[in-house]
Amino acid sequence: MMTHNVSLRPYNTFGVEAVAAAFLEVTSVGELRIALRQAKPPVLVLGGGSNVLFTRDWPGTVVRNAIRGIEVVRRFPHRVWVRAGGGEAWHELVMWAVRQGLGGLENLSLIPGSVGAAPVQNIGAYGAELQEVFVSLEAVELATGRLRRFSRRECQFGYRDSLFKQREKGRWCITAVTLSLTTERHRLNTSYSDVARMLADMGIAQPTPADISEAVVRIRRAKLPDPAHLGNCGSFFKNPEVNLQVWENIRRHHSNPPHYLLPNGRIKVPAGWLIEQCGWKGRRIGNVGCYEKQALVLVNHGGATGQEAYALAQAIAASVADRFGIVLEPEVNVL
Ligand SMILES: Cc1cc2nc3c(=O)[nH]c(=O)nc-3n(C[C@H](O)[C@H](O)[C@H](O)COP(=O)(O)OP(=O)(O)OC[C@H]3O[C@@H](n4cnc5c(N)ncnc54)[C@H](O)[C@@H]3O)c2cc1C
Repeated sequence: MMTHNVSLRPYNTFGVEAVAAAFLEVTSVGELRIALRQAKPPVLVLGGGSNVLFTRDWPGTVVRNAIRGIEVVRRFPHRVWVRAGGGEAWHELVMWAVRQGLGGLENLSLIPGSVGAAPVQNIGAYGAELQEVFVSLEAVELATGRLRRFSRRECQFGYRDSLFKQREKGRWCITAVTLSLTTERHRLNTSYSDVARMLADMGIAQPTPADISEAVVRIRRAKLPDPAHLGNCGSFFKNPEVNLQVWENIRRHHSNPPHYLLPNGRIKVPAGWLIEQCGWKGRRIGNVGCYEKQALVLVNHGGATGQEAYALAQAIAASVADRFGIVLEPEVNVL
């Protein structure tokens, strides 16, 4: 049922206030289509609200995707295709897969948010990305109600990026996602040193997908703030890719800066490290601040407004640009 002038505070993990002129939750493609016919534009599709920062009220309709369901839709000798509704909680899907002994999602454990939002920024963590297990998605076009399937190639996945953050941004509601998961001969990824160390601490030499999931959950609980206690939307910025000249300049002034060499010859530098070098880690300005354990995460110490958080993000980006000549790009969707 459509309701009006609804507070979005419970629907965003940063916990900022914003009011939606109209709001409704949909549990099926049919309900979504009816909703779209009645909706006052602009329409915003919202999942768990863990990757958005509201800096103003939403003048149109917010549609919250609550389309559920997880099922195996095809079986192959060593893998299955699993189709999940866009309104399923991502971590619930990961836990379901782990319980079935399926491999492929374990490194992406405990990422907040919904299944439908996962392809939007091609979620990734601990050396894995959604695109590695992605088969296809189904989405409804907001303007027409038309249901369409997108293949992996059509989604144009990149680092925290896809077609749905670029050319087709804000035009579709992803209603279901199909993933290819292994039933045996799992391709486990323990390349991240944190994961390898945690598995060693847990006394596990031959990990299963469930062991890796448990290790990732433990690492994340120790490192990242729980939005239920401290409002945040995860990493605020993407890790920038820089060219050799910029990288040499950083190296000249810092001993052993963290970095990853990319196949394209460019260098990825952790945005959290750059921010920390500028003295922001643990700093608080008014009701917002930089998380004490990870400078890449901005937090709401209580009562913060979206504009306050965005102003802090801009100040941080300006100091990184000043000091390193690097432009930080937000990972979070600023609305
Ligand atoms: C503590 C914390 C840790 C995090 N760690 C990670 C991490 O390790 N890796 C990572 O990649 N991300 C991480 N994130 C970010 C976030 O969890 C993911 O981006 C997640 O996929 C967002 O899901 P959501 O349902 O909350 O999306 P929302 O915040 O509701 O929406 C995000 C964007 O997607 C659009 N959208 C949402 N649902 C749909 C849909 N069904 N169809 C079309 N568009 C849609 C929205 O309009 C919006 O533009 C973290 C966030 C937090 C708070």
